[in-house]
Formats: sequence, C-alpha cells, structure tokens
Amino acid sequence: MTGAASALGERQTADSGPASATAASMRALTLVAGRKIELLQVAPPALPGRGEAQIAIKAIGLNHIDVWGWRGMAFAKRKLPLVVGAEAAGEVVAVGSDVETLKAGDRVVAYGALTCGICKACREGRDNFCENVGGVLGFHVDGFARDLINMPTRLLIPIPAGVSFRDAACAPIAFATVQHMLFDNAKLEPGESILVQAGGSGIGTAAIKMAKAIGCTVYTTVGDDSKAEKAKALGADHVINYRTDRFEGAVRKLTGKKGVDVVFEHVGPDTFNGSLLCLKRGGRLVTCGSTSGQSTTLNLFQLYTQQYRIFGSFGASMRNIRESLAKMAAGLLPVIDTEVPLADFERALARLESRQVFGKIIVLF
Ligand SMILES: [Zn+2]
Repeated sequence: MTGAASALGERQTADSGPASATAASMRALTLVAGRKIELLQVAPPALPGRGEAQIAIKAIGLNHIDVWGWRGMAFAKRKLPLVVGAEAAGEVVAVGSDVETLKAGDRVVAYGALTCGICKACREGRDNFCENVGGVLGFHVDGFARDLINMPTRLLIPIPAGVSFRDAACAPIAFATVQHMLFDNAKLEPGESILVQAGGSGIGTAAIKMAKAIGCTVYTTVGDDSKAEKAKALGADHVINYRTDRFEGAVRKLTGKKGVDVVFEHVGPDTFNGSLLCLKRGGRLVTCGSTSGQSTTLNLFQLYTQQYRIFGSFGASMRNIRESLAKMAAGLLPVIDTEVPLADFERALARLESRQVFGKIIVLF
C-alpha cells in the first residue's frame, strides 16, 4: 500500500488497462477534490512484506460512506488525493515470505479498516472497537479502487467456493454491518417482528432477507411503488410507501397498536422519532446511519416509560464478515442494483445519493 500511496505525487491521467504484479503502473480511482474523482495511473505497490498479501481487486461495493467521502465531510481527517473504495473482493497474486495461510489464486475479501490487531478489543474479536484504528480505507486512508493493494493477511477472509467476486464484495460492509446490527446488537430472534427502514437500500435489502431467513415478520418502508413490488418479492410481509402513507401510523395499525420488536434504522432525522413510535414496549432500535441529517430531538419521557433500547452500530467484526460469506454460500445472496465499470464510479455515486437504487451497486474491474 505504501508504494501506491507514495506514488500518488507523480501521478498522470490514466487510460491503460489492468496492471499485473510486474507492471510499471496501475490504475487508481482517486478523489482529487470534493465531488471530483479521476482514474489515475500510479506506481504499483512493492512486493508484499512479512504478514502481507498482494490482492488484485476484482469488485468494489458502494456504500453511503463513499457518498459522504465524495461530498467531503467536515469532521473526516484525511488528505487528498485519496484512493476511493471501502468494500472489496479480489484475488491474491503474491504473498510475503512468511505467509502460509494464503497463496496466489486464493479469492478473498478485506476488512475495511486498518485495525491494530493487538489491543484488547482486537484480541477479543471486537474489531470495530479497535483502540488504535488507523482509519477506514477509502475514507480516511487510501482505499481499494485500484488494480493492486497490499494488505495484512490478518485482515483478509477467504471467499467460499461458489460465491462470486460480485456478491462477496457486499460482505465486508453491507452484509456484515447488517449481521452485526441485527444479531449482535438488536439480538433479533426467530419469529419476532421488525421494521426495516428504506428497504430498497443496499443494507435494507440485506436486512429484509436476513430477517426473513430466520422467520421474522418484516415491515418495510420504500419511496415508490415499483420498489414496493421488489421489496415484496424479497419476502417483506408488509411494504409501506412512506411518501403516500405515514409509516408509523401504518405499522401501529398493522400490528394491532402493539408495535414491532425491532426497528432497523439508518435514515436519521426524517424517520427516527417515527421509528421509535413503531416499537412495542421494551422494543429495540438499532441504527447505523443518518443519511437525512445528523441531529434529532428525543422524547425522554417516552424513552424511559416505554423502556426502549437504542443501539448505535458502526462497522462489523471479522466474524461478522465470515458469517455473511457463509450466508451467501448457503444461498442468501445480496440484491444487486447495477454493475458498472470503473469509469462509471462517480455516476454510480450520484445514483446512490439520489436514492434511485434497489440493492447494491457494484463496480467491476
Ligand atoms: Zn486494535
């Protein structure tokens, strides 16, 4: 990685094809200013060092964190230019001299943050609580949208046979985040009821499928009728168009005024208080995002009298990624909105930002 990062100073506009381990240069999709991404030609990384593997990137999953990075976020400490791409799958092309767990030709996904691997949280497998995290790839530090990257092998996870690069590229952030939210934080149980907000999003579609897979009753919100049909086809029991219906009223009516056990939130101020009103007494709300803004007000009387539990959730553990890949291998596959070439990365971000998507956008190398 250091090879690619240090080469960014002498970059040129790129027009050539994929690099190999021996090529003189490689492509790197680089954020050079707010809302400005360029496909540049940079030096490839050095051969992988001890404990490292060199990965040829095959597919990148887009997430809202990419939109935040593209727009520019006031509180994100980072330097431009920055190689984008936070979620990826690829193939090992070389390994360091001491590496025995992986070999050239192995297919892997990578953890999306540079955890230290030695702090208490890392040792306990709570990777997203690392005390010395070196940043989120593609957001704070150079990311995956380049032909080659060197990664510590401890942050790589093999892709099971039968799972494509395209689908596996949804495991490190989208699937693993949902896995962590539903099962580590909200402790969703078979047979419970859940409201999934924005059911057409990448994580919303994953949440619907994971909840249905364990026999939950799923309520979900979407922004237009064509998405309603698609959400039903995924197995959602009740789909509410939030533009034509007040979803909190609809959920209370559909549940006989009892409310649901769990709400899956990531929209933020536009829906947060309505989401709380959808919970039954003692219900759990878990949130991993706030795409509609950062702050809201909270009715504290309602919070404690209704004994709600609210979980903030960010990222996932290495275990969550393994669990996600195992689900894919068993047939629970991500919903893919579109597959686009590297050159369409920015257009794809605009599509994600405008909420036209149903499922995940994948950028292929
Ligand atoms: Zn750590």
